[in-house]
Parts: sequence; C-alpha cells; structure tokens
Amino acid sequence: MGAMSSRLNDKDLLARLVAFDTVSRNSNLPIVDFLSEYLERPGIEIIRQPNDDGTKANLIIWAGPKLDRDAHRFGLILSGHVDVVPPGDRDDWHSDPFVLDERDGSYFGRGACDMKGFDALAISLLAEIDPSTLKAPLVGLFTFDEELGTLGALHFAKHWPSQRPLPPHAIVGEPTSLRAVRMHKGHAAMRATVSGKPAHSGYPHLGVNAIEPAGRIIVALTELRAVLEQERCVTSKYFPDVPYAALNVAQVVGGEAINIVPETCTVHIGVRALPGMDSPALAARIRQAVESAKADADVTFELLNDSPPFELDESALVYKAVCGLVDQRETYGVNYASDAGHLARMGVDCVLFGPGSIDVAHRPNEFIPIKEFERAKGLLRSLVQQMCVD
Ligand SMILES: [Zn+2]
Repeated sequence: MGAMSSRLNDKDLLARLVAFDTVSRNSNLPIVDFLSEYLERPGIEIIRQPNDDGTKANLIIWAGPKLDRDAHRFGLILSGHVDVVPPGDRDDWHSDPFVLDERDGSYFGRGACDMKGFDALAISLLAEIDPSTLKAPLVGLFTFDEELGTLGALHFAKHWPSQRPLPPHAIVGEPTSLRAVRMHKGHAAMRATVSGKPAHSGYPHLGVNAIEPAGRIIVALTELRAVLEQERCVTSKYFPDVPYAALNVAQVVGGEAINIVPETCTVHIGVRALPGMDSPALAARIRQAVESAKADADVTFELLNDSPPFELDESALVYKAVCGLVDQRETYGVNYASDAGHLARMGVDCVLFGPGSIDVAHRPNEFIPIKEFERAKGLLRSLVQQMCVD
C-alpha cells in the first residue's frame, strides 16, 4: 500500500471505509491500520494516539513541515471521526449498511454522511498531495468515540504535546450540506443516582424506596426544562429551531421486580448549552434542581461528560476562506456538539464544513449525494491550496 498504483478513487475509498464496522463500541484499530498503511510514504508522519486501554486510537497524519513556536498563520487540519452510530434494525435498510450502495444519485451506507464521506475526501487529499510542495502543514486528524460524546477529541486535547504547535485552522467535516458553520451547542451528560434499601414489598417498612425520590427529581427537572426554554442568550438568534438550552431527561433505570422495594434508581440527564452560555452555571442549576427535590433521600450527582459549545469569530481567516469558496453570507449554528469544541479550546480556529445533510445522519438509509461529495473534494482542495501551499 501507499504506492501510487494502489491508490483508490474517492468512491472506492469511501466504500472501503464504510465496510469497516466502526460502531463506537467496537475497536477502531482495523480502520486505523488501513489508513496508516494507505497513507504511509516519505514526507508523511503518522502518529497514533491510543486510548487508555489500547483498544482504540486517534490517528494523526502530518504532511509537510513542522511548526516552530513562533506565530504561524497557515496550515490546516482536516478533522473527522471514524466511529459511527449503530445501524439499528436491518429491516429498515434497503441495502446492507456496511456495503456502500449507489442508487438515485447518492451513496448509501452507515457513515456515508456522518462522516466517512468527508473522511474519504480528507484521506484522498492527503494521499494525492506532494509533501515537498507544502509551505505549511496539512494534518489529518481522525478521532474515535465522537458519537459517545467527543471522547477521542478530548483525549487528543489532553495528550497532544503542548510544545508541538498545531496548524491554527481546522475543518471539522460534519455534514453541513456544504455550509460553513461557525458555532454549535455543547452537550453535557449527567447522572443522578438514588440509593435506597431493598425489601420484600410486603414489609415496606424494612426498605427505602429509591424510585419515589427519583420521581420528584424528574418533576423538578421537567420544571427546569420549561424555565430554560424561556431563556435566551446572545447567540440564540443563530439557533432559530431551538434558541434555548435543551434539557433532556434521557434515561431512567430502577427497580428489580414488582414485589421488591427498589434499591436504586438512576436518572440520566443531557443538556445542550448555547455558545456564550455559562455551561458550568447551567450544570450547577441542574444539580440544584436535583438537590432540592431529593429531600432526605440518598442521591449522588455526577457530571459524566462535557462536550463544550463552540463559537468562532466571523473575522477568522479560515471562516472567511470557506465562506468565500461557497459564496456564503449567512451565519449558521447547529444543535449538536462536535470535536470542534475541544479543538477550539486548544486554540485552533474551527469551521464545521462537510458534504451530506445532518437530517439523514444517525438514521437508516443514511446517504451522501454524489454531486455534493464530488463538489466537496474540489472545495477542500482549493482550501488546502490557500492554507498550505500558496
Ligand atoms: Zn459526526
């Protein structure tokens, strides 16, 4: 692999990526091995960043010069996650989710849209570039576990050596229908666990029911949700569908059997803060709602994961470059979190920009229109030219 003769065209490359079952619960090492071999050649540095138990890895492909510590204005990261959400019920699919299928002018398959389509294009650009022509680095960043709460990007942010500067610009290729997106919401995951004492339900005085306090907690969170829906912040106008922090009582697990006083009950809570909101303060309000509803119950509250909201200034070079390419004047925000939240905290200017529509992501028969896929290639190639070569 790596030799010119074995290079795949973009469609075949996408088909290869889709064929790896990279549902987040699986190891991503087979696809990381494939990409490493595919891209390996002189002038390309391949860095593998394993997760804590070694079952997964982020993959960093560095083409072109290293950056010194002085101010640098150029260079580009193309960032995509390689994990996908589970395909769900196979009967809902018109074709095998892990075999790319071309029909009606689109490519169908799990991840075709979110986001192996972009990944294939980024890899293809890294494969075709001559590293000796790069004045500034072109870096591919392929992460694990984005779909579990941007865990790979968090790992990258924690472990990337601080003495090694990254290119200052990134395209995070989430499916935006080729719109430049410069802000998104965060997503924080929390858990309240009520501990009771099990007993035969015929002798309730010997036990402590864990579900009843959980019920009060759920009511309090429902009230807080309604309050949050009335609140607005400076970026609300960019999120016309959902201009507020969305709180979701997402999962409740408790109880053992109908004749047992339940010992535990857990309530999982998600909240999506807008950029510009004080997200620790938001988490504190949720905690407060839980605390005030629990009365004398034994409840622990945990912040499980915090995928930060993200916002880039409209004057940023990379944003202006992408807007220029697609002739865009409007500002768009999106209601989901992405790896950009962590990259932005590392000082990288990020724009979300990729082919495919978020409307079909995470659904059966996910697809990417072929025209958009091909157009994206040309746009990304021009961007690489602007940011890394000229
Ligand atoms: Zn995605």
